[in-house]
Amino acid sequence: MSDVKRVALVTGASSGIGRVCATELAKEGCTVIINYYPAPPCEADANNVVKEIEAAGGQAKAMGCDVTNSTAVNGMIDEIVKEFGRIDVLVNNAGITRDGLLIRMSDEDWEKVVNTNFNSVFYVTRPVAKVMMKQRSGNIVNMASITGVYGNAGQANYASTKAGVIGFTKTIAKELASRGIVANAVAPGFIETPMTEKLDTAKIAERIPLGRLGKPEDVADVVKFLARPNSYITGQVIGVDGGLVI
Ligand code: NAP
Repeated sequence: MSDVKRVALVTGASSGIGRVCATELAKEGCTVIINYYPAPPCEADANNVVKEIEAAGGQAKAMGCDVTNSTAVNGMIDEIVKEFGRIDVLVNNAGITRDGLLIRMSDEDWEKVVNTNFNSVFYVTRPVAKVMMKQRSGNIVNMASITGVYGNAGQANYASTKAGVIGFTKTIAKELASRGIVANAVAPGFIETPMTEKLDTAKIAERIPLGRLGKPEDVADVVKFLARPNSYITGQVIGVDGGLVI
């Protein structure tokens, strides 16, 4: 295994946290699959991530796939295995928000968030787990949120999906441990990405003990740590929130 290049798949890696997780895993020596939502702007962004990784001497490939489409996901995983032979690290990062108070939340906003943030984690992890079970090794990192632990008014859909991701992570950690696979969740607080750019960041920073929003690098540091080979850490939820929740 030591001279075999590790292969990492990061979903929603064309921007924000996913993008930095991908570039950091590439610096660690992984060949990184940059999954992106199959639409022109994301494709261009994903290709730029690949170029950035290659310019730094790393290896990456962009793969467009809507992670809410189970059939398309199975096709993507088959393609990765055909080309690279293995998957060592999975970062389930793709996610969206459609905020609103419960009594005004539409079925569409509920379903879109559940499909993107939660169902996708199942669709992607299931075929990847099969690959990792054959290898008898693998690291799965799921992007949750402090909202999934503590709740947040206006985010009933989002918080429910992130709580679901945490339950899923703990369960698969138990199911897959005997095959050498670890699964953990990261629970970011407020991180500076396109997802939070419309928020009043100065006001939010006042509530954060460390006095600032997080950067995608703060989250990627933890993802990298959880993605190390032979890790003894599994079933955990690691907060990255500047002390927002203590
Ligand atoms: P972001 O920049 O919007 O990144 C999310 C990525 O997921 C985007 O590239 C997005 O593509 C992609 N995506 C969405 N739907 C997809 C689909 N169906 N198939 C494939 N890709 C899809 O936001 P971010 O802040 O980096 O968020 C990354 C993760 O961190 C999310 O799970 C989020 O819930 C979590 N998180 C973020 C924060 C924060 O403060 N930023 C806090 C806690 C947790 P498009 O650009 O096409 O939508």
